[in-house]
Amino acid sequence: MSARRRLLVANWKMTRTPSAAAVLARTLASIPRSGEVELAIAPSFPALDRVGAALAGTGVALAAQDVYVEKEGAFTGEVSAAMLKDAGVTLVLVGHSERRLLRGEREPDFTRKIERLVEQGLAPVYCVGETRAERDAGRTAEVLRKQLAALDGFSVPPPGLTLAYEPVWAIGTGLPATPAMAVDVHARLRAEIAARFGPGVASSTRILYGGSVSPASAPGLFAEEEVDGGLVGNASLVAKDVAALLAAAAAPTPGAARS
Ligand code: PEP
Repeated sequence: MSARRRLLVANWKMTRTPSAAAVLARTLASIPRSGEVELAIAPSFPALDRVGAALAGTGVALAAQDVYVEKEGAFTGEVSAAMLKDAGVTLVLVGHSERRLLRGEREPDFTRKIERLVEQGLAPVYCVGETRAERDAGRTAEVLRKQLAALDGFSVPPPGLTLAYEPVWAIGTGLPATPAMAVDVHARLRAEIAARFGPGVASSTRILYGGSVSPASAPGLFAEEEVDGGLVGNASLVAKDVAALLAAAAAPTPGAARS
């Protein structure tokens, strides 16, 4: 029996103005949810305040899409972990492939970001995943190991650490990984966590799948015990799709009961 509660994280990327985000957040928070599934919403930074107010008392968590590597100071345009905490954020994405590809961020940056989050008691959602070329070259395991090196400096696991397996080729393409691919990678990631922090930590660490999760792909993916929920982009902007994902995440996993 898995003790891991499922989690859906809505990554709204650079979409929705603060006022539109607040309306959508209210709509998503009003969708009936099973207590077995947690929901978090990551709007843009300027929308955090309005979305946080919309989510107050709903049980839906406020998340952020990124954080800066430094604590405070002359870093124009950046946002610190302390600012996110004060805004009511509890979960923060780190290492999203769009940050890796568009901003050139690498593992040493992610280590520092996770350190800043730990200092503020914020839970990191660390995103990893291979490109199509890396998968085709049989390098998926090697790439994931290199990405997990961002956790090497931690002698104890960052509190609340969640991993998100997001194959780059699946993000925003409408072509999700198959459930078998996700299970294979999640099991490898769990083994890497066990090697670093021990089997107890590995079995309690949530590993989300992200990349074209939709009402069509979610039932197959979420039928797998290894898949502890989803990091969702496009579908998280559509209320009826979010309702379908929440239902799929709450559906019993064949052969495995979730508490
Ligand atoms: C993402 O941006 O993290 C993501 C998984 O996007 P999408 O669901 O649109 O593929």
